[in-house]
Amino acid sequence: MNFILRKIIESAIIKLIPNIIGAISNKIFKKKKNKKKSHTPKKIYAQKFGIVVCHDEKDQGAENKKTKMTEYLYCMNLVQKLRDRIPKLYYTTRDKGGISAAYNRCGLNDITITIEPHLNSYNSKVEGTECLIIDGDEESEKVARKYLELITLHFPSQKIRGVKKLKRGDDGHYNLRCAKSNGVRMAILTESFFLDNDNDWKDPDKLKEVFIDLMKEKFH
Ligand SMILES: [Zn+2]
Repeated sequence: MNFILRKIIESAIIKLIPNIIGAISNKIFKKKKNKKKSHTPKKIYAQKFGIVVCHDEKDQGAENKKTKMTEYLYCMNLVQKLRDRIPKLYYTTRDKGGISAAYNRCGLNDITITIEPHLNSYNSKVEGTECLIIDGDEESEKVARKYLELITLHFPSQKIRGVKKLKRGDDGHYNLRCAKSNGVRMAILTESFFLDNDNDWKDPDKLKEVFIDLMKEKFH
């Protein structure tokens, strides 16, 4: 056989070896692999999570005076990072038509769980994470508790301020009510950290993992 031809065939075989090994090990570990599938994006979409970006471009919510970072900008950045990982993740903003229109779009898109990620602000000293739900909404409370659990998992030293149960008239109650009245089954507002306290700052790259893990959970 021609020397060059033999070399080509040899190198082709060498290249094929990893594929053959892969195919064999796939067969052997097939059962294990199937089990892992419960955490694939497909499962995430079965529940249909939706992110409603907090505030809007004109009124961007709380701001860090030094860095000029706002709740709105942080949330937009977070959504971008989430969609880099989960391109089909549904999100909407309040820029067109405000809060009610945003949640109306969630309803039209058959979203069953909404998260509106806010950031807190007080006196630049207070810290911690909290989650807001409508008082008495037990289904949403499950999502809220899991979110706080995951915060502890990803940020072990983070202070957990707990689940705040909102009554009519409280800040955020209207947002959550809009979600519910548009057929969203579970709706939470998150206050992941205090934007005015630099010691409480959370890198969006790290915080996004909390949201991704939350979306891997089965809630209904
Ligand atoms: Zn806010």
